Amino acid sequence: MRVAIAGAGLAGLACAKYLTDAGHTPIILERGDVLGGKVAAWKDEDGDWYETGLHIFFGAYPNLLSLFKELGLEDRLQWKEHTMIFNQQQKPGTYSRFDFPNLPAPLNGIVAILRNNDMLSWGEKIRFGIGLIPAILRGQNYVEDMDKYSWSQWMKRQRMPQRVEKEVFVAMSKALNFINPHEISATILLTALNRFLQKKNGSKMAFLDGSPTERLCQPLVDYITARGGEVRLNAPLKEILLNEDHTVSGFLIRGLDGAEDEVLSADAYVSAMPVDPLKLMLPQPWREMEFFQKLEGLEGVPVINLHLWFDRKLTDIDHLLFSRSPLLSVYADMSNTCREYAHSKRSMLELVLAPAQDWIGKSDREIIDATMEELQKLFPDHFGGDNPAKLLKFHVVKTPRSVYKATPGRQAYRPSQTTPIKNFYLTGDYTMQQYLASMEGAVLSGKLTAQAIAHDAPSALDTSSSNSKNEVSVVER
Ligand SMILES: Cc1cc2nc3c(=O)[nH]c(=O)nc-3n(C[C@H](O)[C@H](O)[C@H](O)COP(=O)(O)OP(=O)(O)OC[C@H]3O[C@@H](n4cnc5c(N)ncnc54)[C@H](O)[C@@H]3O)c2cc1C
Repeated sequence: MRVAIAGAGLAGLACAKYLTDAGHTPIILERGDVLGGKVAAWKDEDGDWYETGLHIFFGAYPNLLSLFKELGLEDRLQWKEHTMIFNQQQKPGTYSRFDFPNLPAPLNGIVAILRNNDMLSWGEKIRFGIGLIPAILRGQNYVEDMDKYSWSQWMKRQRMPQRVEKEVFVAMSKALNFINPHEISATILLTALNRFLQKKNGSKMAFLDGSPTERLCQPLVDYITARGGEVRLNAPLKEILLNEDHTVSGFLIRGLDGAEDEVLSADAYVSAMPVDPLKLMLPQPWREMEFFQKLEGLEGVPVINLHLWFDRKLTDIDHLLFSRSPLLSVYADMSNTCREYAHSKRSMLELVLAPAQDWIGKSDREIIDATMEELQKLFPDHFGGDNPAKLLKFHVVKTPRSVYKATPGRQAYRPSQTTPIKNFYLTGDYTMQQYLASMEGAVLSGKLTAQAIAHDAPSALDTSSSNSKNEVSVVER
């Protein structure tokens, strides 16, 4: 069966991979000239990579880790020490760590929290632990139900100390969805805590050993094309064409550089685009259907990813750092954390600026100047004195609409991978799956979509070619 997929982000690529495994033939159309969507990366004129986002892989990502295994790429994940490192606001240039001991979960997480005395007092830790009891006892149903509250509201209801939010959860909330605790749904943080604490290595982090485009997306394309699939860059979906019964008759591809538009016909069609462009492209008859109307409740959140190259080493820490800065979220010295970006004498800081609402419209220079001010607090030894570190060059990558903004109530708007249109499917991190808007969520959604298509073929769909019914299996751990 031929399946046309619009979008070569992780969801579209994973969907295509699992379709080929089930004996089908995917054709991916990607609007841009680079693979990966929100994990896309580019090489500058000096041969240095810069990326859409600083990306961390977690032990709690079963479907993504199994994808690495299936592609034979496991050695590309550079696993770091099992710890979480926070900058200390009151003591610039110092760090506070949550070190996870080699114990079964959730004991290792509990010990990590109890052993950290820099950020929280014993009284605060105990009140936080008591507040979490309903989530532990009542599980995922309770977690989903809490989508009606923001994290700040939920903490207040659980009578948790305000300082716990300020010390720990501002950083977590910005890292997970690029917004602050008064905006983010309680379900997001509770889900993350659940995933991180339930598995021994759930919160263990890895960096990819190079650019995601080259080290993860290209092998996926090689896998897909070796099995008869196709991936076309610079092939934007312009319009979803319909039959009289409102099923899809074809994908109209916009001709670039004066070329004619082209119609791609297939047996099934998938949108692997983010929710924002999909909403703009919905055919008129679908806009009257409740299923598609609900997409209006989802909207991408702005975020900015920064890369700064310095004339010296600012730190030797080989890990992700939570900046706890009002301007910045997480960051890492990629010259330490990533094999391909390694440098023994110079730092390359990759930093996420969030919330980015007030910054997305500003010039790169304004953004870099504000970031340099923050760096003076994070690295006082290198920016004070007579010989401050010099910024050699920078790249600013703005994503005005990234992952969907996970404010309270959004869970109800997340669509399933199957739609009321029998030959049209959705995939993407925003679609309903048990992980958040993340790389794991994207890969899992791709798998679920491939599974749904393989399940429906050939009976429910108008098929012409292969009739393989191999199963696609989702890893639930
Ligand atoms: C700054 C930043 C940091 C992040 N950090 C992490 C992290 O540490 N860990 C983690 O797990 N996740 C992280 N994420 C989230 C993660 O990157 C995403 O959840 C995931 O990559 C989304 O994949 P996707 O395939 O659903 O969507 P996308 O990657 O957005 O893919 C959609 C694709 O559709 C294409 N497209 C759009 N319109 C058209 C059209 N008309 N025709 C054809 N193609 C089209 C786009 O070009 C794109 O390639 C981060 C994201 C950002 C932005």
